[in-house]
Amino acid sequence: VNNLSNQVIQTDQKTIEKMLHYYQDYKIDKVPQGAVFSAKIPGCTITAYQSGKVLFQGKNSEIESAKWGKQETKAPKITKRSSSNDKYAPPGNIEELSIIGSDEVGTGDYFGPVIVAAVFVKKDRLQLLKNMGVKDSKSLSDKQICEIAPKIIDTIPYSLLILHNEKYNKLQAKGMSQGKMKALMHNQAILNVMQKISPIVPEGILIDQFAEPSTFFKYLEGEKVIEGNIFFSTKAEGLHLSVAAASIIARYAFVKEFDQLSKKAGMPLPKGAGEQVDHAAAKLILKLGKPSLNSFAKLHFANTEKAIRLASSIAGH
Ligand code: MN
Repeated sequence: VNNLSNQVIQTDQKTIEKMLHYYQDYKIDKVPQGAVFSAKIPGCTITAYQSGKVLFQGKNSEIESAKWGKQETKAPKITKRSSSNDKYAPPGNIEELSIIGSDEVGTGDYFGPVIVAAVFVKKDRLQLLKNMGVKDSKSLSDKQICEIAPKIIDTIPYSLLILHNEKYNKLQAKGMSQGKMKALMHNQAILNVMQKISPIVPEGILIDQFAEPSTFFKYLEGEKVIEGNIFFSTKAEGLHLSVAAASIIARYAFVKEFDQLSKKAGMPLPKGAGEQVDHAAAKLILKLGKPSLNSFAKLHFANTEKAIRLASSIAGH
């Protein structure tokens, strides 16, 4: 294929669906990673990617691409970056594959740990998980999470990592970013699952994206790094049940950890990092002393300063 006759357009999901229909009878089986479909018509091969990018190759590519939209005119640097990340875009059929999925919870909450779970869902278990009610955990209540999670844990291989506040604060004080902590935890949880299921190898690894893939791998320099077909996507819990299951297990553990922390604090601790949290933290300072926050909260959050101010103003009155 002459490169000069290649055309790339950037389009949307709707147009790709139309194209899929239009080229239905010309679809070919061999589809590159990250592609929704490939089709071959006389004088042109068409490949549509999840990212919305569509590649037309062959002597008729100009005519064919003109039917669908304008030639992409992005600056070369941006094009290069997005194409290097394209290899991490999940393939269109990912929901049918045997996948290790991972997700984390607690990163935006002042109180409580950071938790990462990874699970392996073999394709023959997909229906079973669906029947259990596994779906996007954001649409599930804590009560539903606590019903479903133990069933998942009994059914599929998983790894659950909990970074408690003391350790989190120690790492953070040493200069480690939260992004790096997350990357290390995802990597380790996935490695644990891979070891558990060995010699079975997953068809892919899907990470609920919290950083650019290049940043993720940079965080892991010097570590034993996961290998295989690694995919990143935001909202990945909607793409494969493994990430949905990982998210449910992580949230389940978070709910339990949170209950224990509240018990230890002798008062209910609110989630998130809002004003309610400032007040609870101030109360905790007055009750157990400022140093106690180290075992309940992520100290570098702005809530700490606010709580200290609140506590001293309450104490002063
Ligand atoms: Mn997530």
